[in-house]
Amino acid sequence: MSTARMRAVRMTHWGGPPALTEVACPIPREDEVLIRVEAAGVCRSDLHVLDARPGTLPYRTPFTLGHEVAGRVAERGPGATGPAVGERVVVYGPWGCGLCSRCAAGAENYCDRRADLDAVRTGTGVGLGRDGGMADFLLVPSGRLLVPVGDLPAAQAAPLSDAGLTAHHAVSGIRPSLPLDGGGGASVAVIGVGGLGHLAVQILRATTSAQVLAVDVREEALSLADACGAHFGTRLRPDTSEVLRRRAGGIGVDAVLDFVGSHSSLELAVGALRAGGELAVVGSGGGELTVRKPGALPPGVRLSLPFWGTRPELEEVVALARKGVVRVETEEFALSSAPEAIDRLRSGHARGRTVLVPD
Ligand code: NAD
Ligand code: ZN
Ligand code: ZN
Repeated sequence: MSTARMRAVRMTHWGGPPALTEVACPIPREDEVLIRVEAAGVCRSDLHVLDARPGTLPYRTPFTLGHEVAGRVAERGPGATGPAVGERVVVYGPWGCGLCSRCAAGAENYCDRRADLDAVRTGTGVGLGRDGGMADFLLVPSGRLLVPVGDLPAAQAAPLSDAGLTAHHAVSGIRPSLPLDGGGGASVAVIGVGGLGHLAVQILRATTSAQVLAVDVREEALSLADACGAHFGTRLRPDTSEVLRRRAGGIGVDAVLDFVGSHSSLELAVGALRAGGELAVVGSGGGELTVRKPGALPPGVRLSLPFWGTRPELEEVVALARKGVVRVETEEFALSSAPEAIDRLRSGHARGRTVLVPD
């Protein structure tokens, strides 16, 4: 294996198309673990990376894309800990310093040294500045970044590591704002029912008693929201904030999960929220929100910008999937068709999560 070559989908230069190319297969040293990739999800963040202007992201090119990865442990460095060779795993993607108190608590998504890592342009995590899993093999720095998945199919497991984990983390953040089970009456708007949003709908249904109101610009996404258990779905229109307020007893929704983050989605969120409500902006759609008192935001609103999730939360979402409570809607493509798969997500025709499977 040491001199072997493998296929990889690479970000070679800023603004360029993804390149399906051949690179040397990495060899695990010290604590590193080599994963044979069984599935890698395609996220809208990959499009944001591909489209980024030079200098706007703290990454060096080239690197291999793919930050949602499941596979089997193929080889371990001599000091590696964690899952054994042959075990099936999903990769915890936000790779922090591994040493600070946040990393020690499994919250590498909020590593205290993230800014230092950015400064030396080492990347945010797997497939984001560091070589990722749209490839035949993936080198992971440490066994601490692997979560066993048992017999969960790889195309189900891979999207859990970002779409599932980020949705779960965002729901966990707003849960304290929702009346407890049995209290009833709480309502949550989910804006954008794509890869992340369709899992958020399922996680809300499984772990809260809130009324789930879905908004998208596409009819197919609303039918997916319905299949995932949303109580109500509507296309984004000029009066959508009014429609959501009416659905939420005329007073506004308790929480909004915005999986778009554009100007129009943020405007909708602000218009639909109840005073004292909770807004979690997950999407990186380039919209901006002005914080001013008094201003457009209803009084008492809490705002959060959840980023990915913690390792214990990844274990929780894997457990939900293994119990059958969460099911990823997937469209599968061969790894060799990665450029077509990425184009399909860009064209707005993907349903649920697009997943690449090495062929
Ligand atoms: P996706 O393309 O699968 O889903 C986006 C959905 O939003 C689609 O169904 C689309 O039709 C819908 N949409 C677009 N504009 C809309 C609008 N104005 N109003 C309502 N719906 C609209 O994307 P995804 O992979 O689920 O990612 C969603 C966003 O979250 C992206 O911006 C991505 O970069 C970001 N993201 C953030 C994190 C994080 O940690 N914060 C993690 C992963 C992805
Ligand atoms: Zn992502
Ligand atoms: Zn750290």
